[in-house]
Amino acid sequence: MTATQGFSTRAIHAGQDPDSAVGSVVPPIYATSTYIQDKVGEARGGFEYSRSSNPTRTALEECMAALEGGKHGLAFASGLAAEDTLLRTIASPGSHFVVPDDAYGGTYRLFARVHQRWGVAADPAHLTNLDSVAAAITPGETKAVWIETPTNPLLAIADIAAIVDLAHAAGALVVVDNTFATPYLQQPLELGADVVVHSTTKYCGGHSDIIGGALVLNDDDLAEQLRFHQNAIGGVASPFDCWLVLRGLRTLAVRMERHCDNAEVVAAFLDEHPRIAQVYFPGLDAHPGHDLAKRQMRRYGGMVSFQVVGGEQAALQVCEGTSVIILGESLGGVESLIEHPHTMTHASVAGTQLEVPGDLIRLSVGIEDAEDLIALLHWAPSARAVC
Ligand SMILES: *Cc1c(COP(=O)(O)O)cnc(C)c1O
Repeated sequence: MTATQGFSTRAIHAGQDPDSAVGSVVPPIYATSTYIQDKVGEARGGFEYSRSSNPTRTALEECMAALEGGKHGLAFASGLAAEDTLLRTIASPGSHFVVPDDAYGGTYRLFARVHQRWGVAADPAHLTNLDSVAAAITPGETKAVWIETPTNPLLAIADIAAIVDLAHAAGALVVVDNTFATPYLQQPLELGADVVVHSTTKYCGGHSDIIGGALVLNDDDLAEQLRFHQNAIGGVASPFDCWLVLRGLRTLAVRMERHCDNAEVVAAFLDEHPRIAQVYFPGLDAHPGHDLAKRQMRRYGGMVSFQVVGGEQAALQVCEGTSVIILGESLGGVESLIEHPHTMTHASVAGTQLEVPGDLIRLSVGIEDAEDLIALLHWAPSARAVC
C-alpha cells in the first residue's frame, strides 16, 4: 500500500494481503503463542513467539501506520499500555514533560501517580495558548510536549504545527494523542509530530468491544527502541483484539462521516437550548478553536460536551435520565454514550489543576439516526425537567 492511495483503500487493504496459506481474503486470527523452527534459530515463517510478534498484530500495525502516514506501527493491549511503553522508552529520571491541562484523566494519572515516583515530572499547560506552552517548556530538559486535540472533555483545539515548532526548537519531541480525531480527521505526523498515540478502544475499534492501543511514528531508531520495550514489557494486543480493531478500521471513514454528521446536528440543537449554558463543539462558529479546527482537521469529530443550567445536580439528572443514549464511560463506539466527567472519566484528576466543572456533560455521539438522538435528549424524563 502506498500513501498516495485514498484513506479507505488503505484502511481496507494495508497490511491485509490475502493469507498465503489458503488465500482467505480476511487476515486470520493467528491464535498461537509459538511457531515452528525448521532448524535451531530458523523460524519457518519469520515469527518466533507472539509477545514479540504475531501475524494478526503485524497486519493491524501495518494498517495503523498506513492510515497515520507513518513508517512504523505498534499495537498494545490498551491505550495506556501504549503510553506507558512510550514513556518507559523515552523518559529517564529527571525527564520533564509538558501535558495538556485537560488531558485524558488516565494519561495524567500515569504521569502523576506512576512515572513521577521514578523522577519523571509533568507540567500542565493550556495548549490553546502558545505562551503557556512556551513557558512550560524547559529547553534541554523537556523530553516531550504531549498534545491532545480536540481535548477531553472540553474539546479545545491545539495548534499541532505551532507547538511542533516550539517543541522542536527546544529539543523536545511532540507526542499527539489522536484518539478523538482519528487518522481520518487529523494527521499529526504530517504536521510535524514525532509520535502518534491511540486508544484503539475508541473510534478505531469503533464498536465498544475491545480495549487496545497503538503508537505510530517515522523515526527508525525510536521505532526499534519501542519494539524492544514492547517485547520486553509485554503489554501487547491479543490476536483476537487486533483482528477486531482491523475490522473496525475498514469502516472508519464511513463511521466518522456519520459521527460528524450526527454531532453537528446534536451540537446545533444543544446550542439553541435555553437550559444549556454552554456547548463545546469545534464545529460551532463561536467555538474559539473553530478556524484552527477547519485548517487542521477534515471535519469536527463526534464528541460534544455541554454545561447545563442548574449545576451538578441537574447534570447528573440529565445523565441518568436518557434511555437509549447509554450512561457509560468511553467513547467512539457506534452507540451514543453520555457521561459526567467530574465523577466518572475525570474523577482521577479531582482536586488537581485538571479538575473539570461539575455541571459538565460529555456526549459521544453515535451513528444512530440523528433525529432519534435529539428526540431522546428532549424526552428523557429528568432531562425534560432540566431542559
Ligand atoms: C481512552 C483514552 C486513553 C486510554 O486508552 P485505554 O485504551 O482506555 O487504555 C487515552 N487517551 C484518550 C484520549 C482516551 O480517550
